[in-house]
Amino acid sequence: MPTAVPPRPVTALRGVGEALARRLNVLGIHTAQDLLFLLPQRYEDRTRVVPLGELRAGMRVAVEGEVQLTEVAFRGRRQLLSRIADGSGSLTLRFFYFTAQQQQGLARGARIRCFGEVRRGAAGLEIVHPEYRRVAADAAADSEDHLTPIYPATEGVTQGRLRMLVGLALQQLATEELRDWLPAELLRRAELPSLRDALLLVHRPPADCPVDALMSWRHPAQRRLAFEELLAHQLSLRLLRQKIQSEPGWPLPGDDRLKNQLLQALPFKLTAAQRRSLGEIERDLERDKPMLRLVQGDVGCGKTLVAALAAARAVQAGHQVALMAPTELLADQHAQNFQRWFTPLNVPVALLTGRQTGRARAALLEGIREGHAPIVLGTHALFQEGVQFGSLALVIVDEQHRFGVHQRLALREKGSRDGRQPHQLIMTATPIPRTLAMTAYADLDVSVIDELPPGRTPVKTVALSETRREEVVQRIRSACLAGRQAYWVCPLIDESEEMPYQAAEETAQALAQALPELRVGLVHGRMPAPAKERAMRDFNRGLIQLLVATTVIEVGVDVPNASLMVIENAERMGLAQLHQLRGRVGRGTHESSCLLLYRSPMSQLGRERLAVMRDTNDGFEVARRDLELRGPGELLGTRQTGLQQMRVADLMRDADLLPDVQRAAQRLLAQWPSHVQPLISRWVGRSEQYGRVG
Ligand code: ADP
Ligand code: MG
Repeated sequence: MPTAVPPRPVTALRGVGEALARRLNVLGIHTAQDLLFLLPQRYEDRTRVVPLGELRAGMRVAVEGEVQLTEVAFRGRRQLLSRIADGSGSLTLRFFYFTAQQQQGLARGARIRCFGEVRRGAAGLEIVHPEYRRVAADAAADSEDHLTPIYPATEGVTQGRLRMLVGLALQQLATEELRDWLPAELLRRAELPSLRDALLLVHRPPADCPVDALMSWRHPAQRRLAFEELLAHQLSLRLLRQKIQSEPGWPLPGDDRLKNQLLQALPFKLTAAQRRSLGEIERDLERDKPMLRLVQGDVGCGKTLVAALAAARAVQAGHQVALMAPTELLADQHAQNFQRWFTPLNVPVALLTGRQTGRARAALLEGIREGHAPIVLGTHALFQEGVQFGSLALVIVDEQHRFGVHQRLALREKGSRDGRQPHQLIMTATPIPRTLAMTAYADLDVSVIDELPPGRTPVKTVALSETRREEVVQRIRSACLAGRQAYWVCPLIDESEEMPYQAAEETAQALAQALPELRVGLVHGRMPAPAKERAMRDFNRGLIQLLVATTVIEVGVDVPNASLMVIENAERMGLAQLHQLRGRVGRGTHESSCLLLYRSPMSQLGRERLAVMRDTNDGFEVARRDLELRGPGELLGTRQTGLQQMRVADLMRDADLLPDVQRAAQRLLAQWPSHVQPLISRWVGRSEQYGRVG
């Protein structure tokens, strides 16, 4: 069994003291080896020195010349100007920050090599703040022999310093062994170079290396590293799955009495897709291995009901079910639905939120501990200290994309009792392509609900300039007077947390004035919970006709009579969010509309997003286009997957590697299990090492 040499701290390198080490830590560099895995973001070709006479504005180039004149000038602000020439032409170097020493170094007659972006200045071409160094007068032939890597920047560590440090780490690589955890056989199969060759190439690409390939991350050396990183993430999630499933679950016998009662009371039938997903869930529940299943389905496809039917199975068997929702609003709404479904069947439904205090909370907690509360709904407060379940057999997480992986993990630990793990049902409306799903959710089985209940009319979406606000107000008036209801979602003015709710308050006032015949309500995240709840309930019952809101209503809210959604500043919102918001209407049988108000001028991205929304109502299509526009990191959300923290790999760009990565993961686990943990440790951030044993 190979043993890993303990990595040496970065301070073991020449010239690295505590202060520098701390700054390097910011870049995730703790050991000398970590430096090797600090990968360049891009490269610059400084191997060719361009004659000054050939320069054009916009070029990033290496040039060399002799200083003709250096002077301090005052053009609005104090600056150092230095003019260099090489016989073919001349160039100005402009510095706004400089030291006396620098000024001396640039004295007339000095020969310097510099690098930077050429631009057109007041007196011809110039480079502002070039990187430069003095060269000996006769050293014209001494040019760089490899492309220059540009590393991620951090405060207090210059590029030159980083290059030097990486150089030291590379020197060590020559004498010390850096273990390649990918067996040669796997590399051959995937046609990838060894780790050592890959690292040498990415840090010191030879001058003739195809820059295009490097810049687009298609070079085999880069792909080798991306492969290894994807593999490490894959392994980490698979280990997590193994770990959870190494404990027995709660086999729930196939007793459908409660489920059938629930179904009989419904005014509609399950869709075929709901039935299929439920079937997959039920098969999992009968086994003594804990279920780990994700149900993916577009907004409005009816995931809540599927969850309730799965819950019925656990309750029938005498166990408890916990359902966790990302917002209080949604937890509250689920509680209403579950109460409507289960109370007539004599199954109590409890709602636990962070708000409950005192005696009521104590009583509720005791009921949960003693197992008297068969169904408990709530926010993440459900899994905080002090909440203990008597016999929790099923955990349901709604709108998973709103939770972090860590919350998902905390929940797993919480659920474990008497050496048994509860089944887990995770629900998300974020539809992602299959290869991505296999990577992001490698620890989960996936069921897809790819069908909406019948009778829904597709939502008509239009984009309107906000100058047509008056018309929009008229549309709200006529929709509401015809018995429908409407949402008005307020702008995200900027990133500040204060603004959205202020805007919502002001908009609510203005709309109430413009529409005196309607009852206008308001809901935003800063309102006290009871007020929020009251507004939602009143909207639900139709007492409020127009609900002005921030994006708190984005997930889950279900009021079928609402048929008009107005979204202000829609051009600023992401596609996933717009699609979620739009999903709040079109839930009943009435024709529904979504009006996207935008403010000109719009960015290209904003324009494209609105076009996607107009073109399609299909969540998978929206996700696909979103992926094209933004890349997967944002689509999946940083928080829940940890994938955003990947250093080399990019799920979109490297998607073609994924099938090989899956196969390699399987083979490594089976044939080289001792390589698994070192690989994970090398690539996956400590907090993300879900599969870490012990
Ligand atoms: P989501 O999948 O977005 O969570 P919900 O579970 O909130 O969707 O369901 C949306 C609406 O569709 C709810 O009002 C729900 O009662 C209704 N619904 C669910 N299943 C069906 C069905 N098979 N037929 C008709 N309506 C359904
Ligand atoms: Mg839902």
